[in-house]
Amino acid sequence: MKLLIHNLSKTYADGTQALNEVSLEIAPGMFGLLGPNGAGKSSLMRTLATLQEADRGEVYLEGESERLDVLQEKMRVRQLLGYLPQEFGVYPRMSAEEMLDHFAALKGIHQPKQRREIVKALLEQTNLYPVRKRKLGGYSGGMKQRFGIAQALLGNPKILIVDEPTAGLDPAERNRFHNLLSEVGQNIIVILSTHIVEDVSNLCNQMAIIHKGEVRLTGHPAQIIADAQGKVWKKNIDKAELPSHQKRYNVISSRLFAGSGQVIIKVYAELRPDATFEPAEADLEDVYFNVIKEAEKAVLLPD
Ligand code: ADP
Repeated sequence: MKLLIHNLSKTYADGTQALNEVSLEIAPGMFGLLGPNGAGKSSLMRTLATLQEADRGEVYLEGESERLDVLQEKMRVRQLLGYLPQEFGVYPRMSAEEMLDHFAALKGIHQPKQRREIVKALLEQTNLYPVRKRKLGGYSGGMKQRFGIAQALLGNPKILIVDEPTAGLDPAERNRFHNLLSEVGQNIIVILSTHIVEDVSNLCNQMAIIHKGEVRLTGHPAQIIADAQGKVWKKNIDKAELPSHQKRYNVISSRLFAGSGQVIIKVYAELRPDATFEPAEADLEDVYFNVIKEAEKAVLLPD
């Protein structure tokens, strides 16, 4: 099964262009959609989840024997899809078990015995079984997000869409949440939207960088990082030298050493800028910063 997105565009009523000719091909596994706030990630997620109309473009879910038109056949798509929005409400006084049982009934799982089994399996899968009787209002951020995944997995979706799920989670909770998604991503398409580079580098085998509604880079994270090797350079400078270096070189990041007045800068360039720079090991964050910087430049200097 594959999700094919072709030239998807969306402009809101106030004139904001959220998506501009977005084309992507998404195979089963973990797909990371990476971009800064306002890039268009949620707009794309909501469109794929059939909750919002696009102005132009096509989306198909292609299986072995049939091709489903996602933008037209909304009801069928909803049966194949689980969605965890950025903000989702729960009834704080209900327990996870009660609420999941309620959602399962809404999904059309009417037999109580079957429903109990499904709810139990999902609570176990998301590691919430021991706290299933606790009120949702008392859940931590990480527990709430895992509950969100449990409800999104009701009905065995073929695609799971999660919008900025790790924002606000502490490292241990994020790690647990990542493990859960990886497990789910072994069998179905999981689309993870995030502004956190680490989420993508730790987790995803396919990715795209989106900025101002446009796809700026797509590929496999390991390949993207491999392609950047030999193009990232570093140098220690005094803090006061930062502005002149930013003017002269393609500085993608700068980090201050606490208390020293020294800054380590990273520059992205095909060739070593000059002998004062040393080669640096490229990572996904370097690529991301460079792509966003190039995209910002293109916005400032339209041709
Ligand atoms: P992201 O999820 O990457 O932060 P969004 O898809 O939420 O990006 O937003 C993309 C752009 O569209 C932003 O400029 C945002 O302000 C704008 N936008 C989002 N939703 C609406 C809406 N309902 N009406 C008008 N503008 C919107």
